[in-house]
Amino acid sequence: MGSIAPSLAELDASNIKVTRSTNLRNVPKPGSPEEMSHSHCTDHMVTVRWTASKGWETPEVRPYENLSIPPTASCLHYATECFEGMKVYRGYDGKMRLFRPDCNGERLDMSSKRGSLPGFKHDELKRLIAKLLEIDGPRWLPKDRPGEHLYLRPTMIATQANLGVQIPKEALLFIIAVPWPDPSKVKPGTNAHPGLKLLTSHEDNIRAWPGGYGYAKLGANYGPSLAAHGKALSMGFNQVLWLFGSDRQVTEAGASNFFIIWENKETGKRELVTAPLENQLILAGVTRRSVLELVQTRLSQSVGDLAPLDVVERSFTIGEVEQAWKEERIVEAFVSGTAYFITPVSLIRNGDVDMNMLKAGAERAEYAALIKSWLEGIMYGKEEHKWAYVIQGEGEQ
Ligand SMILES: *Cc1c(COP(=O)(O)O)cnc(C)c1O
Repeated sequence: MGSIAPSLAELDASNIKVTRSTNLRNVPKPGSPEEMSHSHCTDHMVTVRWTASKGWETPEVRPYENLSIPPTASCLHYATECFEGMKVYRGYDGKMRLFRPDCNGERLDMSSKRGSLPGFKHDELKRLIAKLLEIDGPRWLPKDRPGEHLYLRPTMIATQANLGVQIPKEALLFIIAVPWPDPSKVKPGTNAHPGLKLLTSHEDNIRAWPGGYGYAKLGANYGPSLAAHGKALSMGFNQVLWLFGSDRQVTEAGASNFFIIWENKETGKRELVTAPLENQLILAGVTRRSVLELVQTRLSQSVGDLAPLDVVERSFTIGEVEQAWKEERIVEAFVSGTAYFITPVSLIRNGDVDMNMLKAGAERAEYAALIKSWLEGIMYGKEEHKWAYVIQGEGEQ
């Protein structure tokens, strides 16, 4: 009331400015080297500048190009950066859909504030993405190729030129879209027994800790973990299974959340177990949350031959996993995330113990397959669901 403080502009997708590319890029074929590079972006990108004095400027859709930032920009020195990983799916009804985009908007806002970057009205994120896809969707995710998707990378960086260590006063939000190889299409002959091999982390290498920022999608979480990941790859594994604390709690696998299904020793009932969010050691995956909600509602009763599951979010240790494995109580394990979706785990190596994660005699991880099919049904419009956000491309009907 009567305040003269200048009001800061909110992020607002409705007044977006569009500049069309006159030099369209080639759209890579599925499985081509360009697609496998995970970096061949679409024709356009979204950019929005922010300053501490004015707030959010007018968003733009403009031709994809390199960014120009000063060598003294905060993000290059102090890791003032965070991001999201999302996908847009081309449905079997011809429509493009995002999956629970407000969850990503909320998380980016949270990560941004945790990383000393600006907050924003989180439901504007999906509108900015929609503007980009109205233009790039029809060409890069054509209607006649349902069942395909593009990967989306909304990113926030502090651009302020200042080597002084301080809260940045200038930032840039940008959104790029990238054709992404389909993780479920295993090349014939390369992997007869699909499933990830996980190598547990070493005690001297910790991904996240209480009071840290492992729960936020900050670039600072990833760079320092790549050496361990690279080592695991060179040993023939696919991901690191990150353990925490002297009791070796199981947290998550690479950039995916980790789930195990086992028989409870006392009750004999089957449980879906995953690490909790309260201690802030893991990233609260949108896929994780969706898996838990679907299992709670659809697997509280048997489905076909599959027995019901109790959902359990609690800290558990690799020692408990080993015990369950020795007692043959493990049914299956899988990881969840946007980038690599729902993928079964075939093996975990902890020290000198190799644990097979599939119940003896089982041909495949059936719970993972069922949950995956439910999620795909929603993403590709086979099932009408409130988690899907439909985008209309230009010239589409
Ligand atoms: C992004 C990410 C996940 C998966 O989150 P989704 O929202 O399901 O894509 C899990 N763990 C880490 C560390 C991540 O960065």
